[in-house]
Amino acid sequence: MAREKERVVEICTDSPEATGELAKKLGSRLRAGMVLCLVGDLGAGKTLFAQGIAAGLGVLDEVTSPTFNLMNLYAGRLPMAHFDLYRLEDEAELDEIGFYEYTDEPRGVALIEWADKFPAALPEAYLRVELTPGDTKEARHITFSPVGGGYDELMASLEALGKGRPDD
Ligand code: ADP
Ligand code: MG
Repeated sequence: MAREKERVVEICTDSPEATGELAKKLGSRLRAGMVLCLVGDLGAGKTLFAQGIAAGLGVLDEVTSPTFNLMNLYAGRLPMAHFDLYRLEDEAELDEIGFYEYTDEPRGVALIEWADKFPAALPEAYLRVELTPGDTKEARHITFSPVGGGYDELMASLEALGKGRPDD
């Protein structure tokens, strides 16, 4: 377990399009039950990343930021629940918005922006995706770290993608 936590993949992108493409590839590889915690400041690219994931899941509807309504649900190859906890003040409200239902939903995937606000509410296993600014305006460092089990295959795909070696 400890060793798994140390396994981290960092990929740098130099444009919104590159981030979107990377997220789309990841989205096409997601399996039912997976949870992605998207961490990073305002404007880091969390929603853009979620849009790429949705594209990879075959979601046809437009994916918008759930900042105000806290959660949006989409139908794709797998159902996708997209949360944004930025405006949520009280952890108790998570229950009301169906948070646990979807982070514990074996048939779909959940994406959580500002997941680090309520660490105790996160499921046992998830993939942490942290976006931080790079040297230029359009550069981002994206760090993927699995917490708990079940993300080995995805991490191997990400390693290959990071080396510019598509695995499909
Ligand atoms: P967040 O949800 O983290 O607040 P958004 O995804 O809404 O952020 O916005 C990210 C903004 O940063 C977008 O306007 C996007 O075009 C811009 N951007 C510039 N470069 C990148 C990049 N490499 N990856 C992601 N977004 C980028
Ligand atoms: Mg956002």
